Amino acid sequence: MSTASAMPRIDLRSDTVTRPTPGMREAMAQALVGDDVFADDPSVNALQEKIAKLLGFEAALFMPTGTQSNLCGVLSHCQRGEEYIVGQMAHCYRWEGGGAAVFGSVQPQPLTQQADGSLALADIEAAIKPDDAHFAKTKLLALENTWGGKVLPQSYLSEASALAMQKGLARHLDGARLFNAAVAQAAALGTSPYDEAKRIAQCFDSVSVCFSKGLGAPMGSALCGSKAFIARAHRLRKMAGGGLRQAGFMAAAASYALDHHVLRLAEDHQLMQDLAQGLSGIPGLQVETPQTNILFVDLVGEAKAQGAALQTHLKQAGIDMTGFYRMRFVTHLDVDRAGIDRTISAVRQFFNA
Ligand SMILES: *Cc1c(COP(=O)(O)O)cnc(C)c1O
Repeated sequence: MSTASAMPRIDLRSDTVTRPTPGMREAMAQALVGDDVFADDPSVNALQEKIAKLLGFEAALFMPTGTQSNLCGVLSHCQRGEEYIVGQMAHCYRWEGGGAAVFGSVQPQPLTQQADGSLALADIEAAIKPDDAHFAKTKLLALENTWGGKVLPQSYLSEASALAMQKGLARHLDGARLFNAAVAQAAALGTSPYDEAKRIAQCFDSVSVCFSKGLGAPMGSALCGSKAFIARAHRLRKMAGGGLRQAGFMAAAASYALDHHVLRLAEDHQLMQDLAQGLSGIPGLQVETPQTNILFVDLVGEAKAQGAALQTHLKQAGIDMTGFYRMRFVTHLDVDRAGIDRTISAVRQFFNA
């Protein structure tokens, strides 16, 4: 057996790859459950109340995936022939199979994002259609935070939110990694991550948050909003086949994650800083400054042709990542300092740096 295969693999492809911790498994095993289609699952009900309260909303709905959560969110805001303004590279436009158009006849109006992930306010304003039979009705502004690991500034969220309100648009946040944004923001301001999560969320009428990413639960998201909004989303979730039965085992994992895995996201962010630091200065690599748990590294110049070889080299060293010209590394619950040190060494070895 080679040394690499004897060592644990380091999976930096995504924060979705985490396995439940012993504490989380214990919470799942102990969960009280019932049939959630009858609204009888105490663990699901408790989770929905908990996340709604945490983020400052009237109600919440447990969702199997973030994609279904965004879909039900967009379709709860928009009718057929209406449209939502969204980033060109946003998950709920680009990475969800065109679901809002396919299932809801809702038209996306994608806009090119700024480098920080935001949509320029002037671009949003210019994209809002006049009330005219030629145009789809502009109904919703959908933002994403974090986007590619970047935290949208709180001041921007307030401004975009005010603009949307002034123009009569609803506001949806794809906050798959809302808690990563909150933890980074809280670290910068010296405040509480839970307070920051609420502050971010309160710039929106609805928020979708993933438990299956850095929070380390096996699956699940929550969609939060007003009671009336959640009632519409509940009907859509049923139509989408998302009415789950004894979902409490999964809700218990999510609830455990909210209690135990929010503050520790700071460790993922720190390890990402260390990885970026360790990779900087290698000729041929352009290393971004990470803000949270995601790092992009571009291969430039002659190194550009070496992407596939580098990925193979890392794989043989027991390290998984994605991307060839633009490498993506993601830290999470199942990555530790030793893993990051091994990754830095393996990349340096490849480049003889
Ligand atoms: C992961 C993710 C989602 C939802 O993904 P699922 O795999 O469907 O749970 C939505 N938005 C963003 C930004 C994401 O990263």
